[in-house]
Amino acid sequence: MNYYRIGSRNPAGHYFHVELIIEQPDPEGQKLRLPTWIPGSYMIREFARNLIDLSISNGDKALAVNQLDKTTWQVEACDQALRVSYRVYAWDLSVRSAHLDQTHGFFNGSSVFLEVVGQQHQPCRVTIEAPALTACQHWRLATTLSRQDGNPDRFAFGDFLADDYQELIDHPVEMGEFQAVSFDVYGIPHDMVFSGRFELDENRLVNDLTPALMQHIDLFGQPAPMQRYLFLVMVVGNGYGGLEHRSSTSLMCSRDDLPKPGQSKKTDAYRQFLGLCSHEYFHSWNVKRIKPAVFNPPDLSREVHTPLLWAFEGITSYYDDLALVRAGSITPEEYLEAVAMTWTRVQRGIGRMRQSIADSSFNAWTKFYRQDENAGNAIVSYYTKGMLVALCIDLTLRKTSNHQKSLDDVMRQLWQRYLETAQGVSEKEIQQLVNEIAGSDLTQLLDQWIYGTEELPLETLLDSFGIAVEYRASNSFEDKGGKASDSVHQASIGCELKQQGEFLTIVSTREEGAAQKAGLSAGDLLVAINGVKASVMQINDLLLRMQPGEALDISYFRRDELMQTRLSLQSVVLDRIVLKVKDEKNEALSQWLRL
Ligand code: ZN
Repeated sequence: MNYYRIGSRNPAGHYFHVELIIEQPDPEGQKLRLPTWIPGSYMIREFARNLIDLSISNGDKALAVNQLDKTTWQVEACDQALRVSYRVYAWDLSVRSAHLDQTHGFFNGSSVFLEVVGQQHQPCRVTIEAPALTACQHWRLATTLSRQDGNPDRFAFGDFLADDYQELIDHPVEMGEFQAVSFDVYGIPHDMVFSGRFELDENRLVNDLTPALMQHIDLFGQPAPMQRYLFLVMVVGNGYGGLEHRSSTSLMCSRDDLPKPGQSKKTDAYRQFLGLCSHEYFHSWNVKRIKPAVFNPPDLSREVHTPLLWAFEGITSYYDDLALVRAGSITPEEYLEAVAMTWTRVQRGIGRMRQSIADSSFNAWTKFYRQDENAGNAIVSYYTKGMLVALCIDLTLRKTSNHQKSLDDVMRQLWQRYLETAQGVSEKEIQQLVNEIAGSDLTQLLDQWIYGTEELPLETLLDSFGIAVEYRASNSFEDKGGKASDSVHQASIGCELKQQGEFLTIVSTREEGAAQKAGLSAGDLLVAINGVKASVMQINDLLLRMQPGEALDISYFRRDELMQTRLSLQSVVLDRIVLKVKDEKNEALSQWLRL
């Protein structure tokens, strides 16, 4: 068994100190390596770039270490126990890596624990220590690693065990003076641990979230696959993100996403936070256990491509808000607004006509995760369009089976197969399963939705569920759709803009749009429009009144060069979606949303 010890002598310098004892190293020269990516976040991140001061000894003798590539080291031949020591720089406040300062610490094992090559299937022990500073003496620890020291306080520092390296790096760790909220779901202990500065109405959050989590357990069937569950939440001024793990999740949210004591209004931000918690929880089944065959286990030294991310992120995105409405935590109107906002995000980019969700999945590493200013023109998100495809599959199954079957059956079947075989999912397996459950051949439709770029038949499908679709123009640059609007833009400028203090910057231009035709590009700084200092308010006001074909005289900086152009406004694009229940008594709607 290998033994890790992690602590810090210098949290203000953002260093974790790690020691690793390898009892039986490869006598030919033990290799050690760090992952280049973390499961759930499909981008090469080269965690080894933060590792310094690597030294290896046997007893008192320092051994020679040879670096083989960007992430692998080999120690000289030695058949006695090795003591490996190094430091990891941790100053990335995100859910994907590691962070440490005098206020709190967070790490994923993939950032800090070197893998003992050839022994990745062996169990390992890990001791986690509080940083050696008086300022940190009241710190507590939160992780779902399995405790070995018998300490009944589940937030104590101490000794833990992992069955193998994959498990070791799948339980993120938070340390600090956090606020813990504890509750049970079907008898399973759940904790939410919040770090940062915030105000929180704990009861309201637990009351809204618990029934949605029960929905997920009900869908797949009891027992849930985890013994306990932990939400690690980093609260910041402005941030958003989540990463799923086998019995926990790391989340980042903005202070204002959380419900405050004395506040009863359900803000869009709070609804989105509930959706995020629900999303990561659903991943406990869909992607942490039911997963693409190539992730079973994944090669963490390089990109692992799969055309299936749409099924793991898209279907999960579909069930995150669906569980909230089925649980009664949000209203059907709020649910439809959320669906319309997702649809709007897809509709706003013409990339949906260029890239399929299978292609978006496969190329996630270089395209979705590395988006540039042209992303809207070139790619589609396997999250958002994947969610819409999941919706299409669900509504189609419900319609063709006279409401006897649904996507729920597909997910249950996938779960049963996982429980029976522990095998990964092959490329066409989900489609075959949909066909089996439909009792008819939907291959052509499914191929179109998954591998094609044609518009989805959402309008027709939703109509059968008593829901009307309205397409409208934007009413501002912040307009995310979902809500009706009586005053909308009359003409299109063909670009996204961002006011940054005094300056108005073009974020992106639409291919063949008015801005692009006038020669404007992302990064250009708009100085004046029609002789008046440019601002987002001014442009918004002009677009609410001006007509296609009318012109704007624009002065702008490209880099440091002042330029002029005349922009001819184009017709608006009806890319903001609003969904309305037109028939509240629709039986299909009630069955679908469990009203
Ligand atoms: Zn996800």
